[in-house]
Amino acid sequence: MPFRYTSPTEVRPEMQDFVAYTPGLTIDEIRERYHLERVIKLASNENPLGASPLVQKTLREQAGTVFRYPRGGFGVAEEIARHHGIEPECVVVGNGSDELIDLLIRIRAVPGLHNVLGFKPCFNMYPVLAKLCGVEFRQVPLNEDFSFPLDALAASADDNTALLFVTTPDNPSGYCPSARALMDFAAKLPSGAFLVVDEAYMDFCDNEERHSVIPHLAELPNVGVLRTFSKSFGLAGIRLGYAVLPEPLAAAARKARSPFSVNILAEAAGIAALKDTSFREETLRITREGRVFLSAELKKLGFKVYPSQANFIMVKPPQGITAAALYTSLLERGIIIRQLKSGYELPDFLRITIGTHDENLCLTRTVEDILHA
Ligand SMILES: *Cc1c(COP(=O)(O)O)cnc(C)c1O
Repeated sequence: MPFRYTSPTEVRPEMQDFVAYTPGLTIDEIRERYHLERVIKLASNENPLGASPLVQKTLREQAGTVFRYPRGGFGVAEEIARHHGIEPECVVVGNGSDELIDLLIRIRAVPGLHNVLGFKPCFNMYPVLAKLCGVEFRQVPLNEDFSFPLDALAASADDNTALLFVTTPDNPSGYCPSARALMDFAAKLPSGAFLVVDEAYMDFCDNEERHSVIPHLAELPNVGVLRTFSKSFGLAGIRLGYAVLPEPLAAAARKARSPFSVNILAEAAGIAALKDTSFREETLRITREGRVFLSAELKKLGFKVYPSQANFIMVKPPQGITAAALYTSLLERGIIIRQLKSGYELPDFLRITIGTHDENLCLTRTVEDILHA
């Protein structure tokens, strides 16, 4: 018998009603639950093409090096800096963007004094990590069409606002404002506030140049950007993300960072993923084509489809079926999509990751069967 081990140890008050981030279901869970052979996962915005062949080859070759301590990710930070044409001093790598969100809150916000702002709904890691740091997280409701009320967000910032998090393209709606709109917004913030633009999905945009703030950062001392290798680079499982920050803030983040959070394999995989431009271009092409296809097909079936610049679309099912019922029917047939009732508090909406053409076709045909059953 495994032994039980309990104690009356107290945790911080913030932990008492703490709700953890809920990740999507895994393929194995659904295969077992419904005794299915084939399961398609369109729930976590992962790369539809899997892992780059160059990344896989590199990981096999580097397997023998794992007995060494990592170098802290500085090699991949240099390659990232080159990729964007910025100085390496401004790049901080982390164990997924999640680590960088946590770091930014911890190095900027004083618990009990400062506040952090975001929209409602927003990517759940921002409020979860702010709460864990004992920092107040304030939310401004999105417009009804899920566009950004940037003026309202600017008006909510005060002298104690340490950070604001804005995701663009947004999760879960896919809405994407212009870089110009965000630059004007940044100019209106109180002098102590720092805007973090989370560009996790920016490379899926039809026109990245018009939407990314990275090329403008030299003129934006109160703005930083988060990016990740989890989506278009196909490395969600290896945990690698980065922040582009003004030099002093980047230096503080590097000091506060856990020194080995980017492990040896993550660093090698990141460098290889940056090299494999054909894999990435193919990913972007398939995603953009699939986004047009899925949006059109689901509209034909009566769905409300929100315009998206990301690798997913947010939809509202037609009259006659609830989001929850459709979600469950799809699960039973081996297709996992994302319900938005927990975390985002949008029980009437669903989020669907763009898959390969076959996966997209399988989804639309299955939805059609369910609607006409
Ligand atoms: C997927 C996603 C990320 C990436 O997180 P990682 O920790 O790098 O995997 C960041 N922000 C948003 C809004 C996301 O949806």
